[in-house]
Amino acid sequence: MNRTVFRMRKERNVLQWRVLLVDSLRSNEEVRMEPTPGPCSTIRRHPERAIPDEVKEILATGLVAHVGFCEDGQPFVIPMSYHYSPTRPDRLYLHGSRDSRLMQLLARGAAVSVAVTLVDGLVYSRTAFNHSMNYRSVVCFGRARVVEDEREQRRHFEEMTARYFPGRTPGEDYAPATAQQLAVTLLVEVEIEEWSAKARRGGPRGPYDNDPDAPGSAGVVAISRAKGSEQ
Ligand SMILES: Cc1cc2nc3c(=O)[nH]c(=O)nc-3n(C[C@H](O)[C@H](O)[C@H](O)COP(=O)(O)OP(=O)(O)OC[C@H]3O[C@@H](n4cnc5c(N)ncnc54)[C@H](O)[C@@H]3O)c2cc1C
Repeated sequence: MNRTVFRMRKERNVLQWRVLLVDSLRSNEEVRMEPTPGPCSTIRRHPERAIPDEVKEILATGLVAHVGFCEDGQPFVIPMSYHYSPTRPDRLYLHGSRDSRLMQLLARGAAVSVAVTLVDGLVYSRTAFNHSMNYRSVVCFGRARVVEDEREQRRHFEEMTARYFPGRTPGEDYAPATAQQLAVTLLVEVEIEEWSAKARRGGPRGPYDNDPDAPGSAGVVAISRAKGSEQ
């Protein structure tokens, strides 16, 4: 991202924060700013498939985050577990070993991109070109800071465990992390500056897919998951 775009985004964010702070002080409530689409997150192909209203639901449902970063000009993408709660819409949490290259880079505040994908169906068509996938996906851009406070760490880890394993309670279903386990783990909070969400839904759209007399076959293979499934 060039410096001018980054500065403009920062200035816009500061302005938005000021407006929200004034509103928040007026209403005496905690208000969280939601990221907006920006220069990195403008959907170019099939913009009609943008689903900005579903970003939070997708992030709250997804299981794997693909985390992209650059080191010395070399791009990397690493799959990770993550935590997200719509109550803190502009934050996403990642954790790993203190020795991990990725975690060290994130801790230094490197720019990061995170993709979360829900695959809902495999779409087959009577024409090769029109085979496709039904999906909902989010791409976020931001920077991380290390969560140092132990109480905050425990809170995020316990919330994350409950997101993956609803109903599991620390102290009852599992022993809470020890201080030593927390010490060897790095937890970072990614402040999401921009995000976008996109979906493909429905059946195949090939020229013969609605013609039952045409040769071949067409349809959708539903991909079911434990939670958040749709076809
Ligand atoms: C579903 C899933 C969830 C995970 N959750 C976490 C998590 O929450 N925290 C965590 O620290 N780690 C997690 N991992 C492991 C993670 O993908 C990395 O392997 C790990 O973080 C090591 O990072 P590193 O910085 O040491 O790797 P690096 O030193 O950056 O890795 C060096 C190279 O090793 C290869 N590599 C690394 N990881 C993988 C991989 N997963 N698959 C294939 N090649 C790989 C790549 O080529 C990479 O460029 C998860 C993996 C999966 C698949």
